[in-house]
Amino acid sequence: MKCAWLAASHARDQYDWYNDMPMTAADPLPTLNSEEILRYSRHLLLDEVGFEGQRRIKNARVLLIGAGGLGSPTALYLAAAGVGTLGLVDFDIVDASNLHRQVLHGTSDVGRSKLDSARDRIRDVNPHVHLEPFNTRFDAGNALEILRDFDIVVDGTDNFATRYLTNDAAVLLGKPNAFGCIFRFEGQASVFGAQNGPCYRCLFREPPPAGLIPNCAEAGVLGVLPGLVGTIQAVETLKLILGIGEPLIGRLLLIESLGMTFRTITVRRDPACPVCGDAAAGGATIRSLDDRAADYDDVTCGVPTANSDSSNGAAMIREISATDLAARITRGDDFDLVDVREPAEWAIVRIDGARLVPLGTIGDASNEWDRSREVVLYCKAGVRSMNAAEQLVRKGFTNVTNLTGGIVSWTNDVDPSLQRY
Ligand SMILES: [Zn+2]
Repeated sequence: MKCAWLAASHARDQYDWYNDMPMTAADPLPTLNSEEILRYSRHLLLDEVGFEGQRRIKNARVLLIGAGGLGSPTALYLAAAGVGTLGLVDFDIVDASNLHRQVLHGTSDVGRSKLDSARDRIRDVNPHVHLEPFNTRFDAGNALEILRDFDIVVDGTDNFATRYLTNDAAVLLGKPNAFGCIFRFEGQASVFGAQNGPCYRCLFREPPPAGLIPNCAEAGVLGVLPGLVGTIQAVETLKLILGIGEPLIGRLLLIESLGMTFRTITVRRDPACPVCGDAAAGGATIRSLDDRAADYDDVTCGVPTANSDSSNGAAMIREISATDLAARITRGDDFDLVDVREPAEWAIVRIDGARLVPLGTIGDASNEWDRSREVVLYCKAGVRSMNAAEQLVRKGFTNVTNLTGGIVSWTNDVDPSLQRY
């Protein structure tokens, strides 16, 4: 059923006013053709957007880091809204386990590059959008070069290394960063790097140590949640382009979907912040991406690397590949194989001969174990099991081994018939 006022708004001649818009050399905004005017008519009817606002949107250049869970709704809505140029950075391919939340991609796209899939979908949503794909990992070597030509960056990353890099590059170039992140049933959104506003480092100075945080492949998330948070990032991006409303500058929006609560906390710019702070206050020590600690790039997805700090016990933990572990099992070597994942994951797939001791219980459970007997630990991708291994080493276990790459590697390299998840 159509509202009466909506029908009335159609009846009037809604196009007479924008024809008065001057197009002079001092007005560099692009024009809209008749197809675009029809397409964006519900924007044109808003005083806060209007013809000039829509031309601003068309003139805008927005860089999306990641074409995944957060990048899907932001790309779709920003394309639909008529953002003239969308840059898209991703090097991944579409996996079946992406589809429950990454609505940019469909079942027929599994195995394709995310950029190809996104290009086809975005072209269908709005052929007026110019796409600039970057089929690469966003890293310290290319971040400034890629971001330099864009007006706004949308952080759709799923790991701390890229999140800090995106923040630092945005601050160094003076570009606002429409930030979002998700975890399980919770999300956060803000606008960082705006003039006089705080940045992500004002809130969290340094990335957490590798291994402390779950691997992006390991953390569960409600499929709709990135839709909720990414849509908020798209709204903030449009507000920044249009200069309307109150963007989330200096505010962190906290979303908790189980209780369905939204609240904002105030975030102030920290004069001592290493990237956006003031030199007089001991801040602004990062003046180029080269000034950052070299180990940031090793925190990707929280996977500990060979040069992890040895003081946490990592140096005493042996790593074993899936194929080597399979050979040892076949040989009949004597060790305990312990799966530290959650029962729901154990129910999906497991390695024969293992026993389940979820990470949260291994501290107590291992009190009864023989500290000299070899324990081989595995999880999904190798992060939680490394955490468990470090706990055991701290308790005096002397023979601890971690399965590199977890059951994902086992499935890939040893037994492809096993269920993936
Ligand atoms: Zn800062």
